[in-house]
Amino acid sequence: MWSGLAASLRCGSVRKTMSSGRRRIFSYDQYISKRSLLRRPSAIRELQPLLTIPGMISLGGGMPNKEMFPFQRITAELKDGTSIEIVTPETVDEALQYSQTPGIPRLLRHLEDIQSREHGRSSETTRICVTTGSQDALAKAFDMLLNDGDSLIIESPTYSGSLAYLEPMSCHLVGVETDQDGMIPSQLEDTLVYWDSRFPGKRKPKVLYTIPTGGNPTGATMPNNRKEEVYRICQRHDLLILEDDPYFYMQFNQSGRDSSRSTRTKSFFSMDSADGRVVRFDSLSKLLSSGIRIGFATGPAELIERLELHSQSTTLHTSGISQSLVASYFDHLESSNPGESGFYDGFIKHVNTISDFYLARRDVFLASAEKHLIGLCEWNTPSAGMFVWLKINGCENSRDLVKTKGLEAKVLFVPGESFYPCTSGPSPYVRAAYSTASYEDIDEAVRRFACLIKS
Ligand code: PMP
Repeated sequence: MWSGLAASLRCGSVRKTMSSGRRRIFSYDQYISKRSLLRRPSAIRELQPLLTIPGMISLGGGMPNKEMFPFQRITAELKDGTSIEIVTPETVDEALQYSQTPGIPRLLRHLEDIQSREHGRSSETTRICVTTGSQDALAKAFDMLLNDGDSLIIESPTYSGSLAYLEPMSCHLVGVETDQDGMIPSQLEDTLVYWDSRFPGKRKPKVLYTIPTGGNPTGATMPNNRKEEVYRICQRHDLLILEDDPYFYMQFNQSGRDSSRSTRTKSFFSMDSADGRVVRFDSLSKLLSSGIRIGFATGPAELIERLELHSQSTTLHTSGISQSLVASYFDHLESSNPGESGFYDGFIKHVNTISDFYLARRDVFLASAEKHLIGLCEWNTPSAGMFVWLKINGCENSRDLVKTKGLEAKVLFVPGESFYPCTSGPSPYVRAAYSTASYEDIDEAVRRFACLIKS
């Protein structure tokens, strides 16, 4: 009776009727790794949703008795002085007891609202799983989709945190060049069309991993037309897309806009209603707090359920306190903003404040760069996120500059080589983050950096 999840983990070809009436034919079998195919639902976790059935008496779960928990109330004070209830004696279960793997319903409801209003994708055709930061979801997705020896398309350069997970996986990481607008479609197409001659004996990739907005480390954002081109290439070559987008709401062209009309770039996820080839990774780390460790993966149910199976054997679920904290903050946004889209309007107001904050810091950084680094470095202006990718003119390897001279001069950057697979060799780039230093310190850091390059 409780094998609903197992039944929906189809191993055969997936033929699904979309709510629009369109039929998609898209088999996920060829994409799922052997390890992931072996994952089975946890018998105990499977019971979890059944506990909410009215009248159910459970002797099955193995849950601790909440009467023995010493906590009965948690409240949070917001920066504007408002208090919000996170846990009350009536809601202890939600935050403090074991809960279902995909996330607590009070939070999932808001996340579904965001995905539907922002990306036009409804919960009827997609599924969400809350994860312990998006890093957790990314690692589980890589695990789900890659066997030893498989190839993965990545941007060159790419996020060091993903490389840290991918490199020990013995897969073949193929970097596609990027420019100020992110991954270059013609380079992607060439890589795939000439695969056999360029990479003889290597398996053709089935998956592409991208950070399309305010990329880490480059700060690059892919414009809509480029995204459409990349999406079409992925269609032609049957690639799934892993859209890692923690800086999506930190786009800098938002000020003063009406929250009901998004001027943010279109996501790959929003283009994907017919195919089901995109898994999107969102993060609340830059929007609410990085320490609460809340991210969420959204995509075709067949893939997200596999990710959940992985969580059933690792984290079980993301911290209930963190989820309840976010859900209560989102409830507060809903109740303090009138109208049917009250929560989303409040959320967008909040993220617009954040993007304005980082825009001001970006401008301070760029003004300092103009003052101190002209002729010494080259860079592009980021239109989202918190990073600038600096190329040091005449430098072959930024590592020594950063790790020895930089330490002496008390200024920290990340050497460019950290954002390429370890076989790639030295890099003349460094990544600068303008997110936390004060305006004065940003200028002083850039001045010190200029001195090092000249010394
Ligand atoms: N992806 C990218 C591109 C990131 O920059 C980061 C954070 N540095 C993450 C994922 C992980 O974010 P989270 O805190 O949600 O795990």
